Order: sequence, then structure tokens, then C-alpha cells
Amino acid sequence: MPILVISDIHANRTALEAVLRDAGTVDEVWCLGDLVGYGPDPNECVQIIRDVPHLTCLMGNHDAAVLGDIDIDAFNAEARQSIGWLKDRISTESLDYLRSLPASKVIGDVTLAHGSPRNPVWEYILDTRTARANFEHFSTRLCLVGHSHLPLFFHLNASSDVMTPGLAEDHRMMTLNGRSILNPGSVGQPRDRDPRAAYALFDPEASTWEIHRVEYDIPSVQERIREAGLPIRHALRLSEGW
Ligand code: ZN
Repeated sequence: MPILVISDIHANRTALEAVLRDAGTVDEVWCLGDLVGYGPDPNECVQIIRDVPHLTCLMGNHDAAVLGDIDIDAFNAEARQSIGWLKDRISTESLDYLRSLPASKVIGDVTLAHGSPRNPVWEYILDTRTARANFEHFSTRLCLVGHSHLPLFFHLNASSDVMTPGLAEDHRMMTLNGRSILNPGSVGQPRDRDPRAAYALFDPEASTWEIHRVEYDIPSVQERIREAGLPIRHALRLSEGW
């Protein structure tokens, strides 16, 4: 059975529930961080995630921000506003859970990090130059990252040293031969102009990786964002997928 890989839930309960339903029965769930931030359902999302069986979960930059671990001046104005909103509402229980999360983890021949293996909480891997530099910072064959909210892949051919980058399409199964850096996309706030929630199924035995996209009730989340008084842009961007 495959492993469900998710990231960047961003307090979007409706998207998270749709992903868990769509993925069906899996062996394990690996969550690459950012459970909270932007969205209206932080405590609900933390609760759902901590109840997932066979879970490995990392801390993202938004999770670190609500814990006060990092300077929120590093975020843009609207992200800062939503972190302020979040600090007023997050429960002690949720905070304790977020505090318990590691920034990175190695499982078998896979390294997990929210942003990058070089800088697990903050760095975005968006281009081949950054990806190439990051291949030096993990010793496993594969590395899974989130943070960019884009289902990107970077394959490195071990013999030719040629890198193949790309944006993974829905339901296109990839067989992983050499080393790769892979991003499952974002559950709660996709940014590749496809508003559907994203997740990946990783089969370690067959060495395959497949992105899935799933529709969910976006208007209901937008309504909760408005009611919560969060920045309206956080609602608008959901229907456009950016
Ligand atoms: Zn994020």
C-alpha cells in the first residue's frame, strides 16, 4: 500500500478532509508541515492530523511562527495579520502539538523537510539551481519537501548528472530511478493555478510517485475566512489556485 504525502494544509479543514477521503486506505501518512496559517480552521486541522494513524509530521514556517520561534517580520503584511489572528485563537493543546514536531526527518532512503534539506523551515526549492545545491544536503536517495505549494519534481540522473525539473500533472505516475526532490503540492492553498487540493501517493517498494488533485467545497472555506475577518485575499486566491 502506498504512503500518503501531504503538505501545506494551512488551516483548510474542508480540503484536508477531501484529501483524506480521496486517498482512501494508505499504509502511512507523511505530512511536511504548515498545518496552520492563512485558513480559518487551525485547531480543527491540528486535531484531524494528530488523529491520523501511522503519521509522521513536520513543522513548517507558519507553525513555527505561531509558536513564536521565528520573527514574524519575515512574513508579508497579510501573512503577519493572519498569524496575529491565529495567535488569538490557537488552543494550548494545538500549540503543544506543533511544538512537538521536528523540522526534518529521515525515513529509510527518504529525507523529509518542509522547505529544503539545507534550510528545513525557510528555503523554497523553485528552480534547478537551488535544487542542485540542495542535493548536497541530504544523503538519502529521495527528498520530499513542501513550502512552495507547487507539485514540483527535480530528478537527478546519477550517471549523466543531468537534472530534469517539472510540475507534476494529476494522475501521472512517475517511476523514480535516480535521486529526486519531490513536492506533493499543497492541500489547503495550491499555487499552480489549479484550485483543487493536491497530495501525492508514494510507493517505496515500486519506487513510484503520483500526484492527485481533488475538488472540494471552496465557497464554504471562503465563507469561513470572511466570517473570521481574515484577509479577503486569502479567500479569493483559493478559487484561483495561487
Ligand atoms: Zn505553506
